[in-house]
Amino acid sequence: MNEIEKLQKQIKKLYEVLEANRDLSSTLNLTLVLERLLEKAREVIEAEASSLMLLDEEKQELYFHTVLGEKSEQLKKIRLKLGEGISGWVALNKQPVLVEDCSKDPRFYKKADQTSGFQTRSMICVPLLFRKRVLGTIQVLNKTNQRNFNEEDLKIFQIMADQAAIAIENARLHTLATIDEATGLYRKEYFLMRLKDEYQRFLNTGNPVSVLMIDIDHFKKVNTEYGHLGGDIALKELAKVILNVINETREDDIAGRYGGEEFCVLLPNTNEKRSFEIAETIRQRIQNHSFDIEGRLAKITISIGIASLAFHKSFIHDYEDLIKLADEALYICKDRGRNCSAIYEKN
Ligand code: GH3
Ligand code: MG
Ligand code: MG
Repeated sequence: MNEIEKLQKQIKKLYEVLEANRDLSSTLNLTLVLERLLEKAREVIEAEASSLMLLDEEKQELYFHTVLGEKSEQLKKIRLKLGEGISGWVALNKQPVLVEDCSKDPRFYKKADQTSGFQTRSMICVPLLFRKRVLGTIQVLNKTNQRNFNEEDLKIFQIMADQAAIAIENARLHTLATIDEATGLYRKEYFLMRLKDEYQRFLNTGNPVSVLMIDIDHFKKVNTEYGHLGGDIALKELAKVILNVINETREDDIAGRYGGEEFCVLLPNTNEKRSFEIAETIRQRIQNHSFDIEGRLAKITISIGIASLAFHKSFIHDYEDLIKLADEALYICKDRGRNCSAIYEKN
């Protein structure tokens, strides 16, 4: 290959890397983003395998987050201390390495190969850095056709590592901004944003959309009986039960924490009848659940108010009206003696 051909090949690779970058910024699904990036890295750098490790800040250990290739599940059980193995060294020293012969490198962690059945000959490992903070490492193994990695491969791989670090940091910031830390559900602000989108979709398409407002019955008593911290534990567990129900079959639903002990669920493409069934599933699941509050078992019930478009069309002039109506339906439940669901009706 002459110099011009070499340069042309190099430019083509860089274009491919840029294209991968465009993919990265268009999705918030981190797992998918990182898988695509590793696939691209393997293709562009012409490597047999690629993987990404993240740093568990608390334990100061690296673990495999994304692995392309066979036996990835077994590899996911491996954890490396900072400084351990080549990746541990790279994370600790915040420096990339190109190892031409891993069998001669004392840092090489042999157990990974033993676990995966893969034979690592050579490796490029680059730290994932964001503002000098180590998020993990990314590595490619074995250049195809028994060739060696070179400095150009390392440069390209470093660009991809920077992209991965940005994607990871974006995902972390997105989680921080949208998720309520205490329960793992969406924050109210994010929930309202999504509700607004769904309301607009209803206006455009006429597809139904429903909202559930959930309030815990006599939660003050739970606090009195188990203390405020006990109440917090119950809230967390309750959120988990709600999430379990909506994650079981319904991809598009989202659950949020609306207030202290109030939760909300957004049900796109769901009419009032189906919403009532879903509300009842959640309510019964909570009723049958035993809450473990520091070793003591507690029973909790909830009430659920429901508002739905197009069903309540004549009462709704803005997306927030769905919340108001669902809230009013909640009062109907409380009046009826609690532990029930109700669809809004004008009294
Ligand atoms: P009702 O059946 O009428 O809803 O009775 P309730 O006792 O649940 O009454 P209400 O909804 O008015 O009161 C909610 C209580 O929940 C008051 C507040 O102390 C408690 N609470 C709100 N947020 C939190 C929280 O984050 N943690 C804990 N532990 N308690 C909370
Ligand atoms: Mg309340
Ligand atoms: Mg309550």
